[in-house]
Amino acid sequence: MQNSADQRALLGEAARRFVTKPLRMMINGQWCDASSGERRDVIDPATGLVVTSVPAGGKADIDRAVTAARSAFEGAWRGVGPSMRERLLLKLADLVEQHADELAELETIDNGKLLSFSRHGDLQLAMDSLRYNAGWATKIEGRTIDPSFAYVPGMRFSAQTLREPVGVVGQIIPWNFPLVMAVWKIAPALAAGCTVVLKPAEDTPLTALRLGELICEAGFPDGVVNIVTGDGTAGAALVDHLDIDKIAFTGSTEVGQAIQRKAADTMKRISLELGGKSPVVILKDADVGQAIQGAAQAVFFNHGQVCTAGSRLFVERPIYDAVVEGLGQVASSFKLGSGFSPDSMMGPLVSHRHRERVLSFIEKGRDEGGELIAGGQCVNEQGWFLQPAVFANTQPSATIFREEIFGPVLSVTPFDGDEAGLSLANDTRFGLGASVFSNDLARVQRFTRGFRAGIVWVNAHNLLDPAVPFGGVRMSGFGKELGHSALDLYTEEKSIIMPI
Ligand code: NAD
Repeated sequence: MQNSADQRALLGEAARRFVTKPLRMMINGQWCDASSGERRDVIDPATGLVVTSVPAGGKADIDRAVTAARSAFEGAWRGVGPSMRERLLLKLADLVEQHADELAELETIDNGKLLSFSRHGDLQLAMDSLRYNAGWATKIEGRTIDPSFAYVPGMRFSAQTLREPVGVVGQIIPWNFPLVMAVWKIAPALAAGCTVVLKPAEDTPLTALRLGELICEAGFPDGVVNIVTGDGTAGAALVDHLDIDKIAFTGSTEVGQAIQRKAADTMKRISLELGGKSPVVILKDADVGQAIQGAAQAVFFNHGQVCTAGSRLFVERPIYDAVVEGLGQVASSFKLGSGFSPDSMMGPLVSHRHRERVLSFIEKGRDEGGELIAGGQCVNEQGWFLQPAVFANTQPSATIFREEIFGPVLSVTPFDGDEAGLSLANDTRFGLGASVFSNDLARVQRFTRGFRAGIVWVNAHNLLDPAVPFGGVRMSGFGKELGHSALDLYTEEKSIIMPI
């Protein structure tokens, strides 16, 4: 495959115009540079070339953004009622739809994913999530309670609860689904009446900044959403800030742990969507062809850069050899190339640094005696491409079995019977996704109930819907995004009691 020398030439006119103008970050409805004046290059992962640059925001910029978000929360936004919040979110969804081709191109040049995935996967999910959350704005309700115990003789009480916005929210997101992650954070927060300071991942700031422009165009008051580009220093400043009421974080377990420790100092609310090492279990009665495709999709979707990636595969022994052979063939058959090329089946990893990290796990897998049966080598002269890798007969003690790799690396392990299968599947500190492939209902029930995971699939993996709660248990974090549950992340329950 040939990488284009500079893929900016492949962008449509609108996306090209966006990456050629000076990009700034959005604070209080104004587009501004970092206080330090510093900038950070945005790199195209398919070529390694600089696409553009964005401000390298830091603590001073976070301070300005939090001040703006606080003043919007106490001021203009407070006067915007539920139905207007719904209409603003619907308007934003319409604007995202109108600019879907442009946003998809920006996502592909920034993150590397295939343009067809960006356009039909990420953009669709972003629009659907905006519209789904818009509907909640008018349906946030409290309860009326008739208290049973009168501790003051002769006096009766009535009680009610209100669901109030949590306040000013700091939202920190990763680079694997940049626009979707931004929308999953912003949409329920705005539906609930909060104001936001969003910090996109340093490797993929483009679609968040374009979304910021559309937020202004939709008519949200200044300061309701603020977008500060920058690295972990800016994220840490948000976590430390005394005037932030809540942090919603998606990213690595290590940073999530640091946030939880720091949040104790200011007693901030936090919700954490962290890493995973999700199991896929194929039982012996499964349709082998379908299960191979399902397992390949589970781990190689989005180049394995998915928090629910099914990176540990357990296959019941009678069909183990057939599944391993099939997966080796699938992994070798992926044609890697630019996300803009219609022939490509998989794009590059997000950055050089990330590919080095994934390669170090493959090296470790080999050193620890793993059987690499397919892939694992860098391909193409330019860009951060890596042929998907399959390790057979992986031992539970192996590093590649235990650590989240966040790349296209699968480890396969045989097993015999339900107890052994479940015990292997649950042999991890994480608990995000899990799936089972089988048509034996009794066994399927045993696995779906036995998995220690926040989301479980049957004969599928990585399926999502804006209405279905999403989040992990154990070291994968806590707090459910999506669905009705997302409102719990952005509201506080207040009780009001009064004598009758
Ligand atoms: P990361 O933790 O390095 O970075 C995530 C975000 O946190 C970035 O915006 C980064 O700038 C910021 N950050 C870094 N250090 C910080 C600090 N000390 N304080 C505050 N913010 C800080 O993760 P990553 O490498 O960008 O993303 C990959 C990870 O994200 C994987 O572990 C993956 O499983 C996880 N992830 C989880 C989900 C989920 O829903 N559970 C979804 C996507 C990704």
